[in-house]
Parts: sequence; C-alpha cells; structure tokens
Amino acid sequence: MSECIFCKIINKEIPSQVVFEDEHVLAFKDINPVAPVHLLVIPKKHRESLNDIDVADEALLGHILVVAKKLAQESGIADSGYRVVNNCGDDGGQVVKHLHFHVIGGQPLGVKIC
Ligand code: 5GP
Ligand code: ZN
Repeated sequence: MSECIFCKIINKEIPSQVVFEDEHVLAFKDINPVAPVHLLVIPKKHRESLNDIDVADEALLGHILVVAKKLAQESGIADSGYRVVNNCGDDGGQVVKHLHFHVIGGQPLGVKIC
C-alpha cells in the first residue's frame, strides 16, 4: 500500500474534490488554495517529480497540460490569465513528492520570479 498522499487520493482512500478524471490523470481542488481557483493536476502513475519523467512520459505530460488548459477554461479563468506551476525538489519548494501541476488563477497573481 502506497504511503503517498496523492496516490491515496487517486485510490479514493483520502477524499478530495475531483474536478476531472480519466485513465491517465486526476485533477482536484487544492486543500489550501492560494487563489480563487487552485487545482492540482496529477498523473495516476506515481512519479516523484519532474526528475522522474523520461521520453516514455512525453504524451502524459502533454495530456496534463491540455487538461490544465481545459480546466482553466471551465473555471472561467482562461481569458483573464492563470499560471500552471510545477515545483520540483526541495529548492523548487516541492512538498508532496508525487508529480503535480498547480493551476492557479481568478485574481492577479502578483510577484513573478520568472
Ligand atoms: P507543492 O508545495 O508540493 O508544490 O504542493 C503541494 C500542494 O498539495 C499544496 O498546495 C497543498 O495545499 C496540497 N495538498 C497537500 N495535501 C493535500 C490533500 O490532502 N488534499 C488536497 N486536496 N491538497 C493537498
Ligand atoms: Zn504517489
């Protein structure tokens, strides 16, 4: 049994507010939103971070971005703008060690570091 919190969410061992699900990905509301819209899009396959992705995962990563855009549109934030963020590793600020992409918007997002 995986100890990974996001694998537990995928397996419905921990509840979450799912906004999209298919064979490859799950998207759900972040438990501690930093903006009016704050979703997480994750692969159903456990990958610790972007560092664990290889060429075999290229289609999966592309799919995640297409899902992120679709969810931004459905959430009504696409036209005003939003961010898709991946934090990788400790210096990148990654806390949950299951690859995930934040989709954040619904207000001006303030300070950019890049
Ligand atoms: P990180 O800092 O690793 O890039 O982002 C992890 C995100 O996961 C955080 O924004 C945090 O609020 C969210 N998170 C952590 N645990 C849970 C949980 O059990 N449920 C949900 N929905 N989000 C979580
Ligand atoms: Zn996992």
